[in-house]
Parts: sequence; structure tokens; C-alpha cells
Amino acid sequence: MKYEGQICQPPVERSSVNIPVTVGCSYNACLFCDLFRHLKYRELPMEEIEKELRRIHDLGGDPKVVFLGDGDAFYLSADRLLAIAEQIHKYFPSCSQLRMDARIPNVSDKTDSELKALADAGVQCLYIGIESGLDDVLSFMRKDHSSAEAEEQIARLHEAGIEYGAHIMTGVAGAGRCLENAEATAAFLNRTKPWRVVNFSMGLHPHVPLAREIEAERFTPADELEILREEYRLIELLEGPLEYDGLHDVFEFRVKGKLPKDREKMLARTASAIAAQEGGEKRYSWSAPEWRCYLQTPVIFRDQERQIERPPMY
Ligand code: SF4
Repeated sequence: MKYEGQICQPPVERSSVNIPVTVGCSYNACLFCDLFRHLKYRELPMEEIEKELRRIHDLGGDPKVVFLGDGDAFYLSADRLLAIAEQIHKYFPSCSQLRMDARIPNVSDKTDSELKALADAGVQCLYIGIESGLDDVLSFMRKDHSSAEAEEQIARLHEAGIEYGAHIMTGVAGAGRCLENAEATAAFLNRTKPWRVVNFSMGLHPHVPLAREIEAERFTPADELEILREEYRLIELLEGPLEYDGLHDVFEFRVKGKLPKDREKMLARTASAIAAQEGGEKRYSWSAPEWRCYLQTPVIFRDQERQIERPPMY
């Protein structure tokens, strides 16, 4: 099977076999996201999915955990997901867990009995883009849920026997609001009890609508030092039990562990990353190197002054 677009699978799922069942994201509107902007969402035909399962089976593959791609595979109807699960169990008899990315409306679209049937068919965990515990941030970033809606739908998942993994982004609230965001996000996560938390940390991409908000000075990105301080506060506050994985784009820093067991080690590691950044030049997580120069101090792009050609926009 030819994988279309960028692979979107949390690093904690690296040992799961990825079976794409859709292409792109059915929503594709979050202000900061550059994953699927160039792709039109579509469902992959069942024959194509089966062909891939057969190919892996014929190579001797029989994974225990399968990750269904792509951006929000749980958008598929319950019937479709159940049919895919049936094929997976046929080709991979050892498979006991199916995981995938989801949005909150994908959960609210399904009835309680559909959620239960999916849990019985092996759906064990949905990774949901929670991002922040602050409602004004969710709304600004055009997330399609509020904290209350997310809490309600996560409770339905738990009731059906499906775990959830929270994708969050330190830095998403912007400069000056990182500690406030840490506290609101920790409170949300402590109430909703995720199995895993994956912190992708805010990445800034020149091709996404958020870049236009930065140019218009409606959003001021936090620098990486402020984001690290947010992560430190978050780790202090998360009650667990949960697995935490925090990644950063700009410098090689990753903090992983189980909370509450590993809290002191994780805090010490984050504190040394903070100490290493203190007193240095502000750094921002721009994905395109030619754009990083814009964010050294004032958050304003000066294309003409610098005579740098703007990358294409989508
Ligand atoms: S729901 Fe996820 S994949 Fe889709 S646009 Fe938002 S962040 Fe990107």
C-alpha cells in the first residue's frame, strides 16, 4: 500500500503496525495543523485495506496491536470500523488491540451501543487532540470541541470500555499564558484520566493559518524556554496514573515516564533543560529554517526588508 502524506502516529505507538484506512483528516481546519492540509479526505476501499492485511500476513506478520491511520480514522462509521476489525482479526489472530486517532465529534456521532460493540471488537484506545484545557484557546485554534464536550464524550468512551490518549501542545496558549495553560490542561487531564498523554509541543509552520494570525499580531508564540516551564508545571500537577511523552522540535529534548512514579526524575530532567536555555537567545519552533529568523525578538515578519521569498501558502 502506498502511504499518502505524512505518517501521523504517536511515537509511543512505534511498535504498532499502521494500517491506513483513510487518507487525510475529515476536519482539516485546526489553525496550527500542517499534517493533511494538502490532502483531500477520503476513505480507502476495503479491497485495498484487505490487500495490505494479506501482504503483511503473507510476510509472517501477526501483530498484537494495530494502529488505524490516518488523521481521525474514528470518523468512519461504526459499521465500517467493525468490518475493518473483522478483517484484521481474520488476518492477524493475535491482534487484541486496535488504536487510532479521533476527534471528539467522532465519538459523539456514535451511540453507546456502537461504542460498546467497537470496544468488544478490540478498539482499546483513541488518541484525541485535546491540546489545551482553556476554552478560549480551543476556540481560537478552531478545535471542534469545548472542554465540557470533551469531558462528556470521554466519559462515554470510558463507560464503553475504551481508553483515551490525550494529545496536547504546550505553548498552544501563546506567550505569557503558558503557566495558566499548564494548570487548566492538568486539571482537565486529572478529571478525564487519560491512559497516555503525548505532548507534541507547539510547532510553528509558515504554511498554516496560524502563521497569518502571528503576522497580524493576533497570536504571539511562546518561546521554547517559556514552553519548557509550562511542561515542568504540567508534570508537577498531573496526578496519573498515566504514561507521559513530551517532545520538542527545535532542540533535542524529550521527557518520558510514568506518573506519578517517575515525577521527580522527569522534573529534574526538565529543570536541566530549562537551566540550559536560561539567559540564552529566545528560540522558537519554526519548521522552516528560513522563517526562524523572524522570531528572534519581535514577532513580526518582515518579508520585504529581508527580501526573503515567502513559501507557498495553502
Ligand atoms: S483534527 Fe488533528 S489532524 Fe485534523 S486538522 Fe485538527 S490537529 Fe490536524
